[in-house]
Amino acid sequence: KKLGVALVGLGYYSTDLLAPALQLTNNCELRGIVTGSPEKIPVWKEKYGIADKNVYNYKNFDTIANNPDIDVVYVVLPPSMHAEYTIRAAKAGKHVWCEKPMAPTVADCEAMIKACKDNKVKLAIGYRCQHDPNIQAYMKVGKERPFGKVRMVTSAAGYFDGRTNHWKQNKKLGGGVMGDMGVYALQGARLATGEEPISVMAQASTTRPEIYHEVEETMMFQLEFPSGARASCQTSFGINMNHLQVNYEKGWLKMEPHSSYNGNNGSMSDGTIIKFSIPNQQAKQMDEDALAIMEKTDLIVPGEEGLRDIRVVEAIYKSAAQNCVVKL
Ligand code: NAD
Repeated sequence: KKLGVALVGLGYYSTDLLAPALQLTNNCELRGIVTGSPEKIPVWKEKYGIADKNVYNYKNFDTIANNPDIDVVYVVLPPSMHAEYTIRAAKAGKHVWCEKPMAPTVADCEAMIKACKDNKVKLAIGYRCQHDPNIQAYMKVGKERPFGKVRMVTSAAGYFDGRTNHWKQNKKLGGGVMGDMGVYALQGARLATGEEPISVMAQASTTRPEIYHEVEETMMFQLEFPSGARASCQTSFGINMNHLQVNYEKGWLKMEPHSSYNGNNGSMSDGTIIKFSIPNQQAKQMDEDALAIMEKTDLIVPGEEGLRDIRVVEAIYKSAAQNCVVKL
């Protein structure tokens, strides 16, 4: 038996990554779509054989409650819309997968977690990397400490985005690089240490104020962890970069890239190579999340993990705005 998935929001990530990955999954399949763009409906129906009764718009979405074909609603909208659609899906009795960043505020994330708990449905955040054995490899080093404690993490995630008038540049829609690529830089530090930061210091900047006037193009942030480990992180919509370096008491680990869709790889100071190959990261993510739902086991990335990041993201914005260290 496979779980039926409905994608909400048929933009880039749904179209180019998730729908194709859902053709490769064993535990779930694409059965429904929710869209505000009627012109997309015939294209998706033809390409993926989606039944008329499984096509929704944003207004009639709540009637999905009566549709036994759909087990999981996957929210792939701009971040400011994640909370509303997660809560509506939970109230409709559907399990929810929600894209990162979970939501713009801690309050939104907490409301999403509560709605899913109250309605007895599972909530997973689309952190595909945590399903990738290459990322799991460096998480394990942080836990098992073969090189002693983590002393310093350097983590960067960014790409050059040439678009204008996109939600990523719009504050109201949840734009800004920190919630977007920034969570990969932040996850690099959190996952490598296995700890939660206790203080942050951040600085926002832009080289293209004509495009990035509501939100930052670049964010640099420093984190302090309870063990004394420190992290120096960078994220940008203006710079192509994707690397992670962890310096331990007695060694190091380097990854480049560390948060790509494929090809994440690295090495350690003892000569260990990290280079697992997986057929499709998003298919693995969705299959593992579907299995956890079917077998009632713990999700790899539950809502609480999305919330942990947003707590730090909020502190980073506060630090950048007030130009001061913010304690967590
Ligand atoms: P996109 O702009 O390509 O698509 C967004 C979709 O939302 C579009 O179909 C658009 O029509 C719809 N939409 C509905 N209301 C809208 C509004 N008011 N303004 C703008 N669009 C509106 O964006 P995307 O790149 O597909 O990103 C969607 C989500 O997926 C985001 O949360 C993003 O962070 C996430 N994402 C995750 C990954 C990943 O690797 N996990 C990669 C890319 C995107």
